[in-house]
Amino acid sequence: MTSTVAPPIAEQIAAVCSQVLLTPEATLAALRADCARARGEQGGVGLAALIYGAALLQAGDGVGSLEALGDADADARATGDDALRLQVMVSRSKALTITGDLQGALECFRDGMELSRALGDRHTEGVLLLGLGFFHGQLEESVPYEEYTRLALARFRELGDPQRVALCLNNIAGSISRRKRYAEALACYEEALPIALGLGWRRGQALILAGHGGVLLHQGHIDEGKRMYLASNAILEELGDVFQQTRHLNLLGRALLEGGRPAEALPCLEAAVRHAEARRFEIELSLALELVSRAHEALGDAPSALRALRRHVEEGAIAGNRRTEEVVRKLKLEHRLSIAKREAQQQESRNDELAAVNAALTEAMRQHEALQDELERLARTDPLTGLLNRRRMDELGDREIERCQRSSAPLAVMLADVDHFKRINDRYGHAVGDEVLVEMAARLKGNVRGGDLVARWGGEEFCVLLVDTDDEGARLAAERVRRAIAQRPFETSAGPLKVTLSLGVVALDDGPARLSGLLRQADAALYTAKHRGRDQYYLAPTG
Ligand code: GH3
Ligand code: MG
Ligand code: MG
Repeated sequence: MTSTVAPPIAEQIAAVCSQVLLTPEATLAALRADCARARGEQGGVGLAALIYGAALLQAGDGVGSLEALGDADADARATGDDALRLQVMVSRSKALTITGDLQGALECFRDGMELSRALGDRHTEGVLLLGLGFFHGQLEESVPYEEYTRLALARFRELGDPQRVALCLNNIAGSISRRKRYAEALACYEEALPIALGLGWRRGQALILAGHGGVLLHQGHIDEGKRMYLASNAILEELGDVFQQTRHLNLLGRALLEGGRPAEALPCLEAAVRHAEARRFEIELSLALELVSRAHEALGDAPSALRALRRHVEEGAIAGNRRTEEVVRKLKLEHRLSIAKREAQQQESRNDELAAVNAALTEAMRQHEALQDELERLARTDPLTGLLNRRRMDELGDREIERCQRSSAPLAVMLADVDHFKRINDRYGHAVGDEVLVEMAARLKGNVRGGDLVARWGGEEFCVLLVDTDDEGARLAAERVRRAIAQRPFETSAGPLKVTLSLGVVALDDGPARLSGLLRQADAALYTAKHRGRDQYYLAPTG
């Protein structure tokens, strides 16, 4: 038995495998390759390193992947294994794309393409074309993205690789829906989905469903789009891909908001906030909070909207700072100038965004305060006449009575009721009745002192609290008011109307009193005034 695998190496492999979620096949292959190295078989080390590298790439570790692929490349060159070297190039080009070494990635694609042609490996050439398309997609160059992917698609159709056909269709759909060619994109998704389903390829299904859903949302087919996104997220949940789920929830929530469906958007966005918070996806969190705020606003819940907006600004600042650190680190690593420029631009637009959010926050707070003031004003006043309403008069009346009693100042209360008001309504209609009430309010206010409180007490009844006024002053005020109403007709849209008023008046004596007690007396006095023929006041006897 020649197999002498050193336990530490096998353990290391197992650790790496479990870290990067390798499939059982890849794990076995890695162990087999390591056995080959232990036996001194050429090529075994290179294959193992390639498998590590590819697995690390799949797990999103571009830097670790490049390191392993470097070992693989060295071994492939040493043994003259061009097929292995080509496979290393495929993974290397992708790793360079995701780490942002665009120049390096392009060179690697070109070398790989050349080598695949030299080897007559048309399948791998297709894989490189697909990768090259994706590379342009990352740079948001959607025309070459589409063109390279179409070349790859033709190749995989010819060679019969259904999974890659589905992937190409998905990528093409993505590239053309960016240019709003929605009908074509939908046709691609509709062709791709059954292929992915037939293969049982879960990640592909999730990808395609989300892309398809996105196009439907763009087209305003919100319900269908929503169904697709949720189906995609159910698969991503299975796969444990929380990041994509969060992105989808934000996209869906935004579309629902823009489609005027904030109540449906809110639970999606709140789920996005929970995911993003748990995993610290800062940019997604900041976005989700902004959208949550907009949903609350649309639902008329201003306090919740403000709360979310404030958190959005805070999270946005954190994400912005993290990004600054990243930019600095990348500069230190002497990444290509264009990348640094792009990052800087992103940072700038982030700052602009923050400034805009701050301005929006200030404006929202201003609006909130104005709204609050308006609500308070409405709670105090009668909407028709603008006088104090009954509730407010109740609150202020007792306070005013107490104040006068403390300072031994006199005080009187008048209760005024329009005479035969029902006739006005009956003859000229309610709207004219309202005009009379508005004019009545103005004349009442105009004939008492500024410090007196005037309220609309009921339908055509008014209550006036005359401060610093004794019984003699109350008589004069009541007569002045009566005359101000009776002596000049009311100008209304039905022409001039003669209106009169009856008043019950009560002056406060020395004993303790409350507004309610005084009003009972005033009401009795008013009854007397009506009884005695209307258009007059009656002062309740004291003592
Ligand atoms: P009196 O001299 O005995 O007070 O006779 P009146 O017709 O004024 O007395 P009554 O209390 O029977 O009628 C009051 C009327 O006021 C009845 C009601 O429809 C009307 N009214 C109450 N509130 C409003 C309002 O806001 N606008 C208008 N236009 N009418 C109102
Ligand atoms: Mg009445
Ligand atoms: Mg009346």
